[in-house]
Amino acid sequence: MSQRRTPTLPARPELLLILGSGFTVTLIVVIVAALLIREHASTLQAAQRSTSNITQLINADVLRNVELYDFALQGLIAARQRQDLYQASAEIQHLVQFDQSIAAPFKGEVLLLDANGSVIADSSTLTPTPRNFADRDYFLAHKNAEQPGLFISRPFRVHCNCDQVWRIAFSRRVSGPNGEFAGVAVATMRLAYFDQLFSRLTIGNGSSVNLLNNRGILLAQQPLLERDMIDKDLSDRPNFKRMLNEGSGSFQAISAITGKERLYTFTNVGTLPLIVVVALSSEDVLAPWKRAALLTSGATGILCIGLLWLTWMLRRELRRRYRAERVLSELAATDALTGLANRRILDERLRLEWERAQRSAEPLTVLMIDVDHFKAFNDRHGHHGGDEALRNVAQVIGSNIRRPADLAARYGGEEFAVVLPHTDAKGAKVIAEHIRSSIEHLPRVAGDERPITVSIGVSTWDKRSHMSLEALLLSADRALYEAKHTGRNRVVDASTL
Ligand code: GH3
Ligand code: MG
Ligand code: MG
Repeated sequence: MSQRRTPTLPARPELLLILGSGFTVTLIVVIVAALLIREHASTLQAAQRSTSNITQLINADVLRNVELYDFALQGLIAARQRQDLYQASAEIQHLVQFDQSIAAPFKGEVLLLDANGSVIADSSTLTPTPRNFADRDYFLAHKNAEQPGLFISRPFRVHCNCDQVWRIAFSRRVSGPNGEFAGVAVATMRLAYFDQLFSRLTIGNGSSVNLLNNRGILLAQQPLLERDMIDKDLSDRPNFKRMLNEGSGSFQAISAITGKERLYTFTNVGTLPLIVVVALSSEDVLAPWKRAALLTSGATGILCIGLLWLTWMLRRELRRRYRAERVLSELAATDALTGLANRRILDERLRLEWERAQRSAEPLTVLMIDVDHFKAFNDRHGHHGGDEALRNVAQVIGSNIRRPADLAARYGGEEFAVVLPHTDAKGAKVIAEHIRSSIEHLPRVAGDERPITVSIGVSTWDKRSHMSLEALLLSADRALYEAKHTGRNRVVDASTL
């Protein structure tokens, strides 16, 4: 019924609110995630640094000890190659051959084998018991000339009943005067040395220190991840292959033994065929970070949810306020009895359409409508009946204007005004006549023979006329006055006066 425009929805503030808080939440999440990622990287870096220090310590200790064994072997070979040694007594020979080996820790036997693998000198006795080690890996390696320098054997257990501990053998080739294979100098060491060395280090739960030779044989592990780990061949494991290729470094990978992710830091022991590997449990290393990350993400999550909740509440409040404002502004613009626009809106729109018409030079028509003999109608039907009739008249007027820019308003009392932009006198008269006739044909009020009728004054501004807005309204009034005087229930066009 009312032709006023529906106020537009407050899309902009709502959109700004949603975008603003969405952006803030995203920013918080991105910043926290970036900080956590950086913290994750620096936790791993710190672990790598400390394990790298551990590998260096082990490296130095192992290197020093293996060098002691190597000196003993080289001393034995050098002494053996001196021809003048054989003139000395058996005691002196023994002393000269084995004097270098005294200081070596966790020392087992130091032996000299001939080209057939038989023991010809023993550090523990002047008269060696006849034994043969031709089947040992180190003997075969030197015999087949695979190993020119120091050879480190696979771990083994000594066959005799007295000693079942793990050992490894360091050995060197003994060459004859013409460089031919003349035997092997071999020194054994108990692997307990490594256990003792490694157990001094504190590396955390689920972690281990390992020593492998370059053929992937595990020589020592502290603590043991499984039983029977010593002497295990790990050469086909991808992690070992990577270590062998890279020489030293650090990486994270799944352990084939535990099935869990571990942080491996490894280095070659000098130029020896040995690799020290410190494997930390990633879970263990990252546990403090995980705790902090959980706490931070939890707090961030709560903060973001709080922010989104506040945004939602604010949006609801905005909408509620907007609805209330809209109702208020509708009430302020509506005539309470008829539901048409009120006088204030009529004045505003008249001025607006007037200015628009001046700019566009399009015609603008005003209809002034007055109910005929309404005083008498009121007298016959009472004020209540009069109000009902006014509502019916307003309903007919409102339903006869259809263009969005048209406006029907209650001017005051039983008078109405209609603003018809872009409408010339001819078109306006058609509309006015339609209104008049529709009202005349409204159903009669019970017990009343006379129909409700209206008189309508029509006045049009076009670019040829030189009148003001006030003059336009006055001329519509005059036309209405003329309609009243010429019999009522009619439409009079001001241009015909
Ligand atoms: P005319 O044909 O010359 O216009 O005669 P009229 O009786 O309609 O004119 P007049 O101005 O003398 O009377 C207007 C009447 O309209 C007076 C008043 O009682 C009645 N009226 C004005 N506003 C309202 C209203 O809101 N409700 C009711 N029921 N009557 C109203
Ligand atoms: Mg009147
Ligand atoms: Mg009247």
